[in-house]
Amino acid sequence: MKYNYLIVGAGFTGAVIAREIAEKCNQPVLVIDRRNHISGNAFDHNDNSGILIHEYGPHIFHTNAPQVWNFLSKFTEWIPYEHRVLGQVDKKLIPIPFNFTSIETLFSTKEATIIKKHLLEEHGNNVKVPILNLMESKNRFVKELADYIYKNVFYNYTKKMWDLEPQELDPQVLSRVPIQIGYDDRYFNDKHQAMPKEGYTKMFQQILNHPNIEVKLSTQFKDVSNPNEFKKIIYTGPIDEFFDYRHGELPYRSIQFEFITHDTEYKQKVGTMNFPGFEFKHTRMTEFKHLTFQKNPKTTLCREYPEAYNSKKNLPYYPIPTQENKVLLQKYRAEAEKIKERIAFVGRLADYQYFNMDQAVARGLQFFQKEIL
Ligand SMILES: Cc1cc2nc3c(=O)[nH]c(=O)nc-3n(C[C@H](O)[C@H](O)[C@H](O)COP(=O)(O)OP(=O)(O)OC[C@H]3O[C@@H](n4cnc5c(N)ncnc54)[C@H](O)[C@@H]3O)c2cc1C
Repeated sequence: MKYNYLIVGAGFTGAVIAREIAEKCNQPVLVIDRRNHISGNAFDHNDNSGILIHEYGPHIFHTNAPQVWNFLSKFTEWIPYEHRVLGQVDKKLIPIPFNFTSIETLFSTKEATIIKKHLLEEHGNNVKVPILNLMESKNRFVKELADYIYKNVFYNYTKKMWDLEPQELDPQVLSRVPIQIGYDDRYFNDKHQAMPKEGYTKMFQQILNHPNIEVKLSTQFKDVSNPNEFKKIIYTGPIDEFFDYRHGELPYRSIQFEFITHDTEYKQKVGTMNFPGFEFKHTRMTEFKHLTFQKNPKTTLCREYPEAYNSKKNLPYYPIPTQENKVLLQKYRAEAEKIKERIAFVGRLADYQYFNMDQAVARGLQFFQKEIL
């Protein structure tokens, strides 16, 4: 078959665009991926104990965008799931984001009552406030709390996660860390919070299941012998790799995932435990059965160890949001601009921007509307 479109990458971005072209333009699409599976970083599969695990770290779906929710709901049923996280701070377990229960656990009743009163007076009940705002507060009690959280939770976690001082990162990172005023202990507040009933990979199979779509796995873009044959190429891989790193490598943070199965039904109280302290090498530990509601006498957890990215050793996960890297990205964007009629760069690695899954879907849908339709 002759394909009009080549899509490089079978993750959220590539799969969504492929489906839209196949269905709404009735055009043949070839999707390739260098991995031996579809679903990109959202790939899940059963481990030896029959527990559905996420190969590239826990993926929890949440969105406020109706177009994203409606699009994905054509390909999967959902299990409602609200994620909860406990952090180990000062040898105590506290809800993350920091909320009133966290304050009551870490401070005396007298101190906690005063702090909660001042937070409520300043911000009202049941809202999430960025820690940056609280750190700038003129109220002594609010500022002291924010400084405590910054020092004991945010600073350590950030250092472990990025191996950078917080001020070296884009201020956006700090401005996104919230404190919950009130007792709501959900990690996300989005309207839709759910997991695909049969997993992400089954959902991707449905998205890509269309007579106009062919998928070739274990196939690199470099293996495509005749890229000029396609009317348009949509590339969702790393933008610096496409241009042979001619301006230098865009840095990423990588993660090593360690999967551990226990002969017990449950090991943790909640989906994820955070470990900001330097006494632990890992940052998070997630128990998959909380996310999937599977019944199984065993349980599998995943520990995450952040590490430097090295293109020969591990995978690029998180673009590092620094000023210097933004400047480097602009050089690649300028190269991409010169060939934009034939090749479009879209997605987490091509945009060099962290996207949640719903943002990757939204990016794919918007790209299709603006650039293809
Ligand atoms: C550890 C971790 C946890 C996360 N948790 C969450 C979460 O809880 N909730 C959430 O909403 N989001 C989460 N995300 C984000 C989510 O993974 C992304 O939103 C999503 O993967 C973006 O999809 P994408 O298609 O842009 O990129 P990807 O999923 O990376 O897909 C790109 C695909 O392109 C392929 N590719 C690249 N280059 C080439 C090439 N040259 N030739 C052929 N194929 C190529 C890759 O193999 C890959 O399969 C998490 C991300 C990470 C790293």
